[in-house]
This record gives sequence, structure tokens and C-alpha cells, in this order.
Amino acid sequence: MSWVKQARSLVAPALPQCLFCGRQARSSPDMPGICLSCYSRIPWIRRPRCQTCGRHVGCPDCSRSRGPVPIRCNRSAVAYTREMREILGQYKYRGNERLTPLLGQMLDKAYALLQKEQSDRQRTGGTLQTHFFCKPIMALKSNLSRSNLWQADLLVPVPVSTVRLLERGFNQAEQLAEVLCRRRDLLQLPLLVRTRHTAKQSFKSRSERLADMKHAFTGNMDAAVLHRLREQLDATAFRGQQRPLRIIIIDDIYTTGSTIRACADALHSLCESMGCTAEIYSLTWARS
Ligand SMILES: [Zn+2]
Ligand SMILES: [Zn+2]
Repeated sequence: MSWVKQARSLVAPALPQCLFCGRQARSSPDMPGICLSCYSRIPWIRRPRCQTCGRHVGCPDCSRSRGPVPIRCNRSAVAYTREMREILGQYKYRGNERLTPLLGQMLDKAYALLQKEQSDRQRTGGTLQTHFFCKPIMALKSNLSRSNLWQADLLVPVPVSTVRLLERGFNQAEQLAEVLCRRRDLLQLPLLVRTRHTAKQSFKSRSERLADMKHAFTGNMDAAVLHRLREQLDATAFRGQQRPLRIIIIDDIYTTGSTIRACADALHSLCESMGCTAEIYSLTWARS
């Protein structure tokens, strides 16, 4: 090493360590936690092919299921590729909570997409124009003023069972929702509880998951939580917007949608018992 280089390495600040690959490299300007190379490989879902579940590839599940769907739509930030699975594993199972702000920021891109779609929908009077929605997330430059932008009223994280919570020490959905709350000035409420501990879903077939998840969640009857929900309902009505409460269910991953659907069913029942109707959406970090 030349003395110039040596001197420079003493003066120049060390390059930050990438949270994804662990190398010391220049950070992405958009997401300072990760390096440019890792950033360029993120499989963003900028153009969901399925407007219902937000999947990036052809989706037989949504066309197969009949009957009313309890959610308006799902949007996910990234496709669940091998690399993304590795990242989620580091976060969820190896407890690398340093990833929370970064994954939350990634989830925020899915919120931006949903917000853009719903704002356009409001403006065009609810007619779905698929081609119109399919714009890159990065290029979301809305000409709507902030007050016209669609906003959620409430975020509800998918709860984990007590067993899982003890195992991991945190609920990843709650942590991701918290990042979104801070960025978007939103409120999250634990409106759901698990009625039972379900075995790991990853080893099950689609039909097994659906059967397993049915009635796995119920409304949280905690008085303080219901009080905050009541306050939020009053605030929504107070703004003169007599409309359903907009709830977004937050989770780390959407696989078959059975968890989200079960949560949405429980939320609809809870809202009904509070004398209001809900419009339910979901956002997940990844879509498999
Ligand atoms: Zn990297
Ligand atoms: Zn679908």
C-alpha cells in the first residue's frame, strides 16, 4: 500500500457494513443500510400481475377461490426469492433485529404502491384500470396533494402465538408495522389474538394450511385496545368521512393467503360487533 493510500485510509471514514451481505461497501442512497450491489438485486414487485393478491407471477389461487374475499387486496414489497428467504431467516429465526428498519422501509414501498393505486381509484371513481396501476414504485411521483392521498386508518399486525413469541422474543409483523407507523404517521393496534398455536406452516400443503388457519384468530377483547379502536372510529367519523374503517393487516410474508384471510374474517367480526364496517387490505414484506 502506498503511503498516500495509507494516509487516506486513516482519514477517510470506513465504508459501512452492508446489512444483507456483510461486506464493507458503498451504501445505496435509497436504502443506506445495504450496499449498491445488494440493492440492485432486490426483486421488487413493481407490477403485481394479480391485482388481488399482489403476486408478481401468474396466480391460479385467486381465480380458483370462489365466494367473497375478506380483503380488498394484498400488496407485497418483494418476491420471495432464495436471497430474500435468507434475509428473512436472518431476521426472524436468527433474531437479527438490526434488519427491522430496513425491512420496514422496504415494506413502505408496498404501502406507497397501495396508496397510489387507491388514490387513483378514488379519483377515477373506483374504476380499476390495471394498466394505469402498473407503474414502477420508484417512479411514484403523484401529482395529488397529500390531503387527497389515500391513507389507512389503522394497521393491525398478524399476532404470533405465545410459544413463538417466547422463542423469538419479538413479533416481526408488529416491528414492521411500527416502522410503517413512524414513517407514515399511522396507528397500529393489536386487534387480533391467536386462539391456538398452529404448527409451522412451511411444511404444509395449501389445503392443510387453509383448514389449519380457519378460526386461528379472534378479536382482541382487551378493554384498553377496544377503547383505542373506539377513539379511532370516532376520529374517522369526526373528519366527516362516513366510510368504512380502512385497516391494513401487516405480515412478513404472504404464501397462500390463509393467514391473512383468517385475520380479515376475525377483523370483520370484531368491527361488526363495534357497529362499523371495515375495508381490509394487507401488506407483506414478501410474496412467495
Ligand atoms: Zn450487500
Ligand atoms: Zn392472486
